[in-house]
Amino acid sequence: MDITLCDIDKSYRNQPVLASIGFAVGPRELVSIVGPSGAGKTTLLNIIAGLEIPDKGEVVFSRPVNKHHPVIIVFQDYVLFPAMTVRANIGFGLKARHLKTQQVTKQVDQMLDYFQLTPQADQYPAQLSAGQKQRVAIARAMIVNPAVLLLDEPFANLDRNLKMETARFIRTTQQAFGIPTISVTHDLEEAFAMSDRIGVLLDSRLQQFDTPRQVYFHSATPAVARFLGPVNEIPPSMFSLFRVDDAVAGPLNGRPLPARPENLVITADADGLGRITDKTFAGHYTVYEVTVGPIACTIYSQNDRFDKDQPVSLRYRPF
Ligand code: ADP
Repeated sequence: MDITLCDIDKSYRNQPVLASIGFAVGPRELVSIVGPSGAGKTTLLNIIAGLEIPDKGEVVFSRPVNKHHPVIIVFQDYVLFPAMTVRANIGFGLKARHLKTQQVTKQVDQMLDYFQLTPQADQYPAQLSAGQKQRVAIARAMIVNPAVLLLDEPFANLDRNLKMETARFIRTTQQAFGIPTISVTHDLEEAFAMSDRIGVLLDSRLQQFDTPRQVYFHSATPAVARFLGPVNEIPPSMFSLFRVDDAVAGPLNGRPLPARPENLVITADADGLGRITDKTFAGHYTVYEVTVGPIACTIYSQNDRFDKDQPVSLRYRPF
């Protein structure tokens, strides 16, 4: 199953929310659409789900979408049935399709096992943690063999330490079930971790649609680059100092080079023009602020041995 969005426009009260949105999601692919709050992510998801009608354009599914292969949205607040047990919530879609009780039980048992919810089978949603509620919601969606799975802010209600674990879990599940999935989120790290491709929605438009690595290290526009994280701008006059080679400099045509904090390498150098002005321990890396002549750079390094005020040189490392 492929899904193709063709030239979608949507306005509310003459205010454009989505303009000329087009992208395709292949079978077994997981795509995340990222953008700030109010960028139109939920509107886009609702259009794909058929809950909103676009003013222009269409969503094309390569195979018929019907009650046997529906488009399923998992909403950010999960919307579980509060008076039903976990087991009943997960089995709901199959019961609604009038499957035999024995068959429903068998499939629900498999889902409970896969989603590690067997101990909670007879509990009610109010008794579950946020992570467990989400697993119930995804299990309830997966059991009906959806044509497409849509996830609305899947990390919104989770603690920080549960977000990355959930991203990995969504990825593994999506691969195991092989269902094309579109997630909309403003949680960038998690979107990067789980997605085959990322779409960046800014100012009503899909500014870039590419692999996580490409959108992060080769952002289509300065606005996309800034939205995705810190970016250092190295002026052409400093390219030789940063040892930027011609293959990188050439295509820029005299424009500054956007360099991520991971693109810059620090070396201790008594004659270096760089000075470390600040150093922050961030767990699995150290953040350095370094001034070099007129510019200040933010650098993430695995090496925490550099000291404040130490002279250093910086080198650009492409990815
Ligand atoms: P996001 O999910 O990225 O936060 P939304 O799709 O929810 O963004 O909203 C995008 C914009 O469209 C917002 O400015 C919002 O106020 C507006 N909007 C969304 N739904 C409606 C609606 N039904 N009527 C009017 N305006 C809406």
